[in-house]
This record gives sequence, structure tokens and C-alpha cells, in this order.
Amino acid sequence: MQLIDPFGRTVRDLRISITDRCNFRCAYCMPEEGMAWLDRKEILTFEEISRLASICVGRFDVDSIRLTGGEPTVRAHLPVLVGKLSQLKVRSGADSPRAGKKIDLALTTNGATLRLLANELKTAGLERINISLDTLQSEKFFRITRRDHLTNVLDGIDAAIHAGFSPVKINAVIQRGVNDDEILALARFGREKQVEIRFIEFMPLDAQGEWRANSVVGQDEIVAQINQVFPLEQVAARGAAPADRWRYLDGGGTVGVIPSVTKPFCGDCDRVRLTAEGQFRTCLFSTTEFDLRAKLRGGASDDAIAAEIERAVGTKWAGHAIGNVTFVRPKRSMSQIGG
Ligand code: SAM
Ligand code: SF4
Repeated sequence: MQLIDPFGRTVRDLRISITDRCNFRCAYCMPEEGMAWLDRKEILTFEEISRLASICVGRFDVDSIRLTGGEPTVRAHLPVLVGKLSQLKVRSGADSPRAGKKIDLALTTNGATLRLLANELKTAGLERINISLDTLQSEKFFRITRRDHLTNVLDGIDAAIHAGFSPVKINAVIQRGVNDDEILALARFGREKQVEIRFIEFMPLDAQGEWRANSVVGQDEIVAQINQVFPLEQVAARGAAPADRWRYLDGGGTVGVIPSVTKPFCGDCDRVRLTAEGQFRTCLFSTTEFDLRAKLRGGASDDAIAAEIERAVGTKWAGHAIGNVTFVRPKRSMSQIGG
């Protein structure tokens, strides 16, 4: 059975946050100090995460899972969880290109410890990896992340490439006056490494509430800057993926932009989210959550949990309204939801 929301969109992708903690303090995500962390016992165990994932895959034909956080690599024994989830298979009769095959399992990470983990994660069954990198300048890296780890992240990117992840993608959040002068340098980096850079528009999900519309650098501006130096042509269909993609005409690979603010892609959204403490959300910007941890720990059957997931998806809205007067910021920030 498929999970279809009130606007006819089919849920296929589950984003699971496995921790709210992080070894960075990116200014667009968290304050330097003062985040209130979840207690260990509040966080779902690997068994609980696996049970919910297997309900979503087994009953609802979800065919792709991305692990995120916080920083997922700070959670102990991450490869064990990857090993469990990578065994999940999409039903053979499912309406999915992966029917009868293993799910598409991906990870989003800041890359700081990837040089130590990449091979183990690959062996455990992880397929794809996205690494965040907003600047190539070490001083600026420190200013953005409040940590001195640029070299480690660059080594992590190399380690991911060598471990054979396919594809490796780089996420770069662009902020006006912070790193909008590096769009071209990051694009060049992606071409050299033969990895896809995905520029992300800055969203109002920073814990400090400092987001302003004029800090957003929009898709059109990003693409125009790159196109002036490396001519681009747009790759046709995006489908449910959040990034619009362009191909370098000289064969230098592809580049993407996630235009969450200037060109929201809610109409094609196929995602749902699970927070580290087991709250089910149908949108990054949701203001309501469904408490699956209470169900799990209250002894609910798989049927009851599946019914709650269906109920949640039945409330999914058409889309967020960043920039409109009707927009309400969610109470949680990015690292507390799972980006
Ligand atoms: N810690 C991991 C990382 O940074 O890749 C995974 C979690 S992080 C919340 C997921 C993604 O969200 C990262 O690519 C990060 O750059 C992005 N992000 C965080 N805050 C954001 C914001 N306010 N606007 C846009 N993207 C944001
Ligand atoms: Fe940590 Fe990722 Fe947020 Fe940066 S964006 S503070 S790495 S969770």
C-alpha cells in the first residue's frame, strides 16, 4: 500500500535524524552555546529506528532512507545502524524502480570524521553520501562552523570518493555577505573532484532566528554566476528530488541548486521525517508532529503505528509559505528536525 497525501503526492523518502547533537556549530543552524540537547533515553534506539523504518518500507513502499541529524556520525556505532537498514528491501510488487531490491540508503554529514568512517560505512551497505562544505577558506570555515576542521572535511570528501560512494554530493548553503563570493570557487571544486555541488538557499531554520530574506542568495543568481564562466544547460526532469540540476556544456559534470525559498518544490515533495526522539513530521516546516516514540514505548502493534503514520500523512499540507505573511516558523530548528 502506498502513502498518498491529501494533495495526491506519494511518500517515498524517509529522512531519519539519529541525533540532535553535533561536533560543529554552524552559525546558520545553531548558536555557539546554549542548545538544549536531548537526553540519551529520549532518543530512539537503533531497534526502534529499524522497526519504524521497516514499517515504512514494508507496508508503505518507501524506497529511500536518508540518515541525518544533528551530525549522524557523532552517534556511536553508526555502521551498525547502517548495516541493519541496508538490509531493508522494497516489496517486489511495489510501484518503485527499486521494487524487489534494497532501499536507497544515504547519509548527510558534515564530513569531519568521514576519513575514519567512510570505508566502514560503505562496507555496512551505505550507498550515497552528501557532505556539507560551505567554503574553501579555512578562516571562513571557522567563522561559519565555529570549528577548525576544513582539512578534515576535505580529507573526508576524498575518503568518500575513494570508498566508492556513488554519488558523492557536496551541500553548500550560500548566505549573502558570508560566502556568496565563493560560488564559483565551489563550482570549480566540484568540477575538479567530479562531484556534484548542490547550492542550498538559506532557510529560516536557524536556532537563533536570525534569518532574513535579504541573506538568501537565490537560485537565479547562483546559476547566472556559474553560467558566465562555465556555460550550463538545465537537466530536464527533477522529479521529486529537491535540487534543480544543470550540466556543464564542456562535459565538466553537473551542479544543482535547492531553491527552497525562491522556488519551493513542495508540489513534488515525496518526503516525511522522523526526529531523533521519534516525532514524525510531514514537512521541514511542519508545526505539528506525531509521537511515534510514545506508540513504540507504549507497546503499540505495527498496525497501530502504521495507522498513526497514515494519519500523519493525511495532514500533510500543500506547501510552506516562506516569505509570505502567513509563514509560521516551526518551533524546532534545522538540527532538531533533521535536515
Ligand atoms: N550535520 C549534517 C550536515 O551538516 O551535513 C547533517 C544535518 S544538517 C542540519 C543537513 C543540511 O542542512 C546541511 O547540508 C546543512 O548545511 C543544511 N542546513 C542547516 N541549516 C540550514 C539553513 N538554515 N538553511 C539551509 N540549509 C541548512
Ligand atoms: Fe551541525 Fe550540520 Fe547544523 Fe552544521 S548544519 S551545526 S554540521 S547539524
